[in-house]
Amino acid sequence: MLEVKNIKFKYKRSEELVLKDISFDIEKGDCLCILGPNGTGKTTLLKIILSFFKPMNGSIYVDNQDLLKLSSRQRAKYIAYVSQSSNIVFPYTVLEVILMGRTPHLNIGASMSTEDKEIAVNIMDDLGISHMKNRYFQNLSGGERQMVMIARALAQQSKYLIMDEPTAALDYSNQIKILDTINKLSKSGYGIIMTSHFPDHAFISCNKAILMKDGYIINSGNPEEVVNSESLTKLYDAHVGVTEAKISDEMYTYFSKVCVPVFDNNIKYKEN
Ligand code: ADP
Repeated sequence: MLEVKNIKFKYKRSEELVLKDISFDIEKGDCLCILGPNGTGKTTLLKIILSFFKPMNGSIYVDNQDLLKLSSRQRAKYIAYVSQSSNIVFPYTVLEVILMGRTPHLNIGASMSTEDKEIAVNIMDDLGISHMKNRYFQNLSGGERQMVMIARALAQQSKYLIMDEPTAALDYSNQIKILDTINKLSKSGYGIIMTSHFPDHAFISCNKAILMKDGYIINSGNPEEVVNSESLTKLYDAHVGVTEAKISDEMYTYFSKVCVPVFDNNIKYKEN
């Protein structure tokens, strides 16, 4: 279990607390979606879990160990980060980028073993990206890059994955592909924390949701319960409805909740 308790945080130069009292936990197989407007502290929270910043108050335990006291190598065996692909500037091939995920498992000065390469190859097979193994990362499309970043995080073989806006800047088809991959990963036992600007993602991929505003959690729980018209309207200061969509044909029926922004110019008022 990954337990985040009473986290408070302030940047050195800012006057106000960015995170005011954040607590939640996730277990193996959970996917938690953090929703909230820009500037509300979502990325800061992820960076604290990744130990980029130290909280002023609070604790983070992972499988009963104090995460803040672990070395970076120990931590990397628990938590992997699917970073934004723009972090990679050198001309590495896809295989080389994925192998970077093995670094926490290497002894100092050691090079990648046959086993490390096998792990990378198996992950590429599982994610269906083996065909791009020798291509240069920089020449890939946004969607392809994001799959490689996920593969790199999986090569780390940690139990929890942190994803900051994993579908940001992707076209519709690639968004679907990434969400489908996230669904498969949580089903296979990874604990996932992701942020998103699309509340629908909580319904599509997550069994837990946190609604964050101004550094506070204003609502948390199962998306079916906490992501609703009232909470979203409060969260985004905009009129948002939540309804249930049903897709069916002779073979199947599919239900999904969907979020619908309500625009004044399209409202038809009922006559009494
Ligand atoms: P979100 O991910 O929800 O958009 P962030 O965590 O990026 O929000 O930012 C939360 C607040 O912290 C914002 O007001 C932002 O301007 C501020 N902030 C982010 N990074 C820094 C930093 N390095 N130094 C000072 N303030 C920062």
